[in-house]
Amino acid sequence: MKNIKGKSIKASILKSFHDFKENEVILCRKELLEWYYKNKRDLPWRKQVKVEDRNQRAYGVWVSEIMLQQTQVATVIDYYNKWMKKWPTLQALSLASLEEVNQLWSGLGYYSRGRRLHEAAKKVVGENGGIMPESADHLLKELPGVGRYTAAAIASIAFSEATGLVDGNVVRVLSRLRAIGANSADPQIIEAFWELANKLVDPDQPGDFNQGLMELGATVCTPKSPSCATCPLQSLCYAYSQTQKNDTKLTNKFVLNSKMDKIVDIECVADDCRFCIPASDSWDSNLGVTNYPRKPKKKAPREERTAVFIIKCHQLEEDEYLLVQRPENGLLAGLWEFPSSLLKENKSTQDLKDKLLGYGINVPCDSNRDHIGEVVHIFSHIHQTYVVEAFELENKPCSKTAAEIKLQWLTAQQLQSAAISTAMKKVFKVYENYENGKQVPIKKRGSKCKEVDERQLKKQKMLMESFFQPKTAK
Ligand code: SF4
Ligand SMILES: [Zn+2]
Repeated sequence: MKNIKGKSIKASILKSFHDFKENEVILCRKELLEWYYKNKRDLPWRKQVKVEDRNQRAYGVWVSEIMLQQTQVATVIDYYNKWMKKWPTLQALSLASLEEVNQLWSGLGYYSRGRRLHEAAKKVVGENGGIMPESADHLLKELPGVGRYTAAAIASIAFSEATGLVDGNVVRVLSRLRAIGANSADPQIIEAFWELANKLVDPDQPGDFNQGLMELGATVCTPKSPSCATCPLQSLCYAYSQTQKNDTKLTNKFVLNSKMDKIVDIECVADDCRFCIPASDSWDSNLGVTNYPRKPKKKAPREERTAVFIIKCHQLEEDEYLLVQRPENGLLAGLWEFPSSLLKENKSTQDLKDKLLGYGINVPCDSNRDHIGEVVHIFSHIHQTYVVEAFELENKPCSKTAAEIKLQWLTAQQLQSAAISTAMKKVFKVYENYENGKQVPIKKRGSKCKEVDERQLKKQKMLMESFFQPKTAK
């Protein structure tokens, strides 16, 4: 048997205890499809099932699959609907600007996904007349941003190719069904999951089968509290059988029950089996089926602190704020942000001041800036703390500088729909709260601050004096 990339898989993997037998494959397809047709959630990208044009169907599946990577279904629904309304076809998307794509993607995170989807749409329209490649192999080779999973999802759902697929939900379900307790991030183990998924997929209904397997993982065989009692695959599940046995110390011994032809004791007898829970890692009877899958311990996210200046310029009609575009590569590529700079060891904001000087902006001294506070945002691998300060400019730097360095001035309202990250929206919210007096300003002592304080004290004194002065008779 071959995988999606045409690589051969060692036969020994397929013949092992952790494999499915033919009768189990047939039972699994039947039970899962029946369950899926009764229980599938009503999701906007599934409404396209009746669309005759497979190419159009593929576009919808593609957009939804890219959005669903690392984002919850509930969040994606709204973004998907907005996206399809704005760019209902590949052709429409190919004519959009990256700025528009970033704007619509704003708040969804992992912005490179939107950028690459846009790039790939332009490629399909420019090089292939808007016709999507139909096989998983071609989708994988030809479309930027389309990985092995997305290629298999588009090919099976839109073009009925009999290819299995593996995502986080599928790994969870398969690892429990077949008691695969090895590290699920290990490339060899991932390969085994692909092998199992390719074996299980229903050749007549590959799209529905794959969606069913993912749906089961998302709604029944969930990470922390799976509903084994309602699971259509319970009779095939080694993990479930294992929890039913009294002697939980026999971690690799199982009893197959109910819908299988006969009751048999089975166990993985392979020496040093690389799919079983490793001997060094004990079975936790409190976890039950959630002993599977086993994941490597996550690395702690890197701690970073970044200085952010919110720079306001008072205009005739409305205040405007300075935004700078991020580089075209890396984290949050091409998005707009308030001028920022990583705070290094010495925690000085000098780098940011130098950067702003390059934009023609002189940063006022420490005591003449408002110290708004700290805003924490967690990216997948970075625990980011933004140290936010604010000040006002009398005049904007000349427009030539703005054009060269990609600066723009936006009103608070424009900021809401601009291509800026969720983290920067949070920063602005904290700033607005501060401005609205919801938080007491942390002013440092300094000339301007003193002036403000003195003016306010004088005003308060006058009010007190007028209050205590005897009123003259009218
Ligand atoms: S029986 Fe439980 S653990 Fe097994 S596949 Fe179903 S929900 Fe998951
Ligand atoms: Zn084993």
